[in-house]
Amino acid sequence: MTRTDQPTATRTTPRGKVLISGASIAGPALAFWLNRYGYAVTVVEKAGTLRSGGYPIDVRGTALDVVEKMGILPQLRDAHIDLRRLTFLDGDGSEVTSLHPHAVTGGVAGRDLEIRRGDLTDALYMAVRDDVEFLFNDSIDTLDQSDHGVDVTFRGGGSRTFDMVFGADGMHSRTREMLFGPEEQFHRYLGYCFAVFTMRNTLGLSHETVMWNTPGRAAAVYAVGDDDEVHAFLNFAQPEPPFDAFGNPEAQRDLLAKVFADAGWEVPGMLAALRAADDVFFDAVSQIRMPRWSSGRVALLGDAAYAPSFLTGQGSSLALVGAYMLAGSLADRDHAAGFAAYEHNTREFVTVNQEQAGEGDATLFPTTARALEQRNDMLCNLSAMPAAEGRPAHSALTLPEFMPMT
Ligand SMILES: Cc1cc2nc3c(=O)[nH]c(=O)nc-3n(C[C@H](O)[C@H](O)[C@H](O)COP(=O)(O)OP(=O)(O)OC[C@H]3O[C@@H](n4cnc5c(N)ncnc54)[C@H](O)[C@@H]3O)c2cc1C
Repeated sequence: MTRTDQPTATRTTPRGKVLISGASIAGPALAFWLNRYGYAVTVVEKAGTLRSGGYPIDVRGTALDVVEKMGILPQLRDAHIDLRRLTFLDGDGSEVTSLHPHAVTGGVAGRDLEIRRGDLTDALYMAVRDDVEFLFNDSIDTLDQSDHGVDVTFRGGGSRTFDMVFGADGMHSRTREMLFGPEEQFHRYLGYCFAVFTMRNTLGLSHETVMWNTPGRAAAVYAVGDDDEVHAFLNFAQPEPPFDAFGNPEAQRDLLAKVFADAGWEVPGMLAALRAADDVFFDAVSQIRMPRWSSGRVALLGDAAYAPSFLTGQGSSLALVGAYMLAGSLADRDHAAGFAAYEHNTREFVTVNQEQAGEGDATLFPTTARALEQRNDMLCNLSAMPAAEGRPAHSALTLPEFMPMT
C-alpha cells in the first residue's frame, strides 16, 4: 500500500484511546486518520465480518481528494465501474430514452468513481487493519461519560474506558440514540422506500442500467459488468415510513409484492428473485439532520450524523470527507475544541450536499402521471453526452492540511 503526503505519527505512546462504532465506510476512514494522528484506535462492528453488499456507490469531488491522500485512489480507479448506458422505460416496457449515466447524475467522466460498495469497504479496511483493533460481532451496550473519559460496556461482555467514542453506525445509529434520544427527531423522510438485492442477469445486460417507471414506482436492473448477476432496485412512494417493515425482512417482501403487484416489464421476475434473495437491503429514503454532531466526548459522522439519502448519491462521499475533517480537527486539539472545529468547518459542505436531494435525481421518481411525463420530456432533452463538470456541491470544500501534534 502506498501512503501519501501525511506525516506518519512517530510517537511511541498513543495520544489517547478511542472507540469507533461501525466498520463500513465512515468508521474505517476515521480509524485510518486517527491512527495517523497518534491515537490508539478500536473499531467495534456488530456484524461478524465486513458487510460488503449493496448497490454500487459514487465517490466524487472532495471525497476523491480524501481517498487520494489515503493512498487508495489507484486501487479504487482499478475497481471503477464503467457504466455506459442508462435506459428509461415506460410502464409498458417501451424505451423513453437512453443516456450516458453522468448526463443524469452530474458525475464527471474520467474523474468521479463509481464502485461496488464492497470494493470501497475492503480498500478502507485493508488500509487500517494492521494498525487498528477490530472487534467484530460486538457492539456498545452502555456509554457513561465523565471528566476522565467514556466508560463503555460491550454487548459481548467486558468494559473499557476510552478518551473519545465515535458513532459511525449508519442512519439508524444506536450511538446517536444513546446520546441524543430517538431517531424520529432527526429523521427527515423524503417520501420513498427502496430495496436492493442481487439476482440473475436474465436480460443479458452489460455495463448498463435499465429503469422502468410508473407514477410512484421504479424498478431498475444494474449490470456492473458482464457478470451473471445484476443489482435489482425497487423504489416506491409511500406517504409515511412503514415502521413495521424495518427490521422485518418478511414484512418488507410482502410490502414490495403488494406495491408492485400489477407491474409489467420484468418486475414479476424481480419480485420472485426478491423472495429468494439473501442480501436484501431495505430502507426509507431519508436524511438525518442534526443541530449538533457531538456531545461531550462522543461525536457522530457519516450517515449517523448527516445521511443525505441515495437521491444525492453523496452518502459515501460525505462519510469519507467527514472522517477526514473530524480526525484532522483532533490532530492538534482536545475533544471539545476538535469537535467544535469539525462542525464549524464541515457543516456547510454537508448542508449543500443534502440539499441536492431536492434537485436533479429526485425527479427520477415522479409520483404523478403529469410529473412523469415532464420528467420524460426533460430526459429526452438532456444531452446524451457525459457532463464535463460535476455539480459544485460535490467539490464545495477544499481539504485543509492537518499536522499531528508532536
Ligand atoms: C450492507 C449495507 C448495504 C448498503 N447498501 C446500500 C445501498 O444499496 N444503497 C444505499 O444508498 N446505501 C446503502 N448502504 C448505506 C451506505 O453504505 C451509506 O449510506 C454510506 O456509505 C455512509 O456510510 P456509513 O459508514 O456512514 O454508514 P453505513 O454504511 O450504514 O455503515 C454503518 C455500519 O455500522 C454498523 N453498525 C450498525 N449499528 C451498529 C451497532 N449498534 N454497533 C456496531 N456496529 C453497528 C453496520 O453494520 C455498518 O457496518 C448500505 C449499508 C450497508 C451496511
